[in-house]
Amino acid sequence: MAINTDQLIADLSDMIRCPSVNTFGGPAAEGAMADLFETQLRALGLEIGAHEVGPGRRNVWGTLKGAGEGPTVLLAGHLDTVGVDGYQSPFEPTVKDGNIYGRGSCDMKAGLAAYLEVVRQLAKLKMPLAGDLIIAGVVDEEHAMAGSRHFGLQGPKIDYAIVAEPTELKICPVHKGQFLATLRANGLAAHSSMPQNGRNAVYHMGTVLNELQIYAQSLSKRQPDPMCGAPSFSVGVIRGGDNACSVPDFCEIDVDRRTIPGETTASVITELEGVLDAALAKEPELNIEIGTPFLDLPPLDTKTDTAVMMAMTSACKAVISDATVETFPGSTDGPNYKCPTVICGPGRLAQCHSLNEYVSISQIEDAVRIYVHAIQKMQSTTAKES
Ligand SMILES: [Zn+2]
Repeated sequence: MAINTDQLIADLSDMIRCPSVNTFGGPAAEGAMADLFETQLRALGLEIGAHEVGPGRRNVWGTLKGAGEGPTVLLAGHLDTVGVDGYQSPFEPTVKDGNIYGRGSCDMKAGLAAYLEVVRQLAKLKMPLAGDLIIAGVVDEEHAMAGSRHFGLQGPKIDYAIVAEPTELKICPVHKGQFLATLRANGLAAHSSMPQNGRNAVYHMGTVLNELQIYAQSLSKRQPDPMCGAPSFSVGVIRGGDNACSVPDFCEIDVDRRTIPGETTASVITELEGVLDAALAKEPELNIEIGTPFLDLPPLDTKTDTAVMMAMTSACKAVISDATVETFPGSTDGPNYKCPTVICGPGRLAQCHSLNEYVSISQIEDAVRIYVHAIQKMQSTTAKES
């Protein structure tokens, strides 16, 4: 398969030049990138769809229509990137020694550029598709995954998805889920010269933290999932009080609970409530609540016998003679697509949030070959899975 490398590099360079740094709850940052991706999809003759996810934040996708009897396959990627503090020339794409450098090159504009080349290759092959192929760019993966969550709920119905997050072309059908929430202890403010008149929320949180540490240790000893390992828990942020001379009337922590297949949001909340009950037994004045999770992503748990796994295994064997199946170490948009999904893309995960981000061009080319092969496989079977 002759890849149009010049076009691939030009597409990816245009994307790197278009900043889309996620502001983590701040103003929208993906607007220009969504416009660019839409223009690129339109130039390929795809039917364009878009949804406003929030002010100035748009998911965009292009559909290559199939005959209607095959599965709908989604190639998805996120439009946003992580920040650029301390990064020299993050938005100037540079090609050197077979790599392309710049913020977002690896995570994951390379994947989006690969998808565009997939459409060109399918056109060249003149292969009619049994079902639709949808190429989507979604917002906000790096923060709250609002884009993929919206796409999974409101976007077109998908049968199988491939997400080109950097895996060095390893096949990743599973990863842990992620539950992020704020726990807030409420106290009573008083002048610190008369602390007996107040209820110190920071002290109360101290009791909670001790119990949470015991809980975190107990999770590491649980029966691990064969692919995902043991679940985990970590406290990442603490905020509380106002100044040294006041008894603090609040203390908050942000927690990160990584889940494994079989665990649910409800089971996690029940466990946390149990931990808070243990803290309450030690500190009767404790008044604490678990806030609405700001990320609530189930584990990705795609089975080996799904059509997308079989297609990707066959494709990786054919193209790179290596069909290694691994657990993806982080979390991705994948579970939000609510269908059997495989994470497999060019670039190294270790590279992606660094201050010298790059991706191997030959790996992007192989990714294109893998996706084309996998689409051909899936579109030759008309069996849909629910
Ligand atoms: Zn990513």
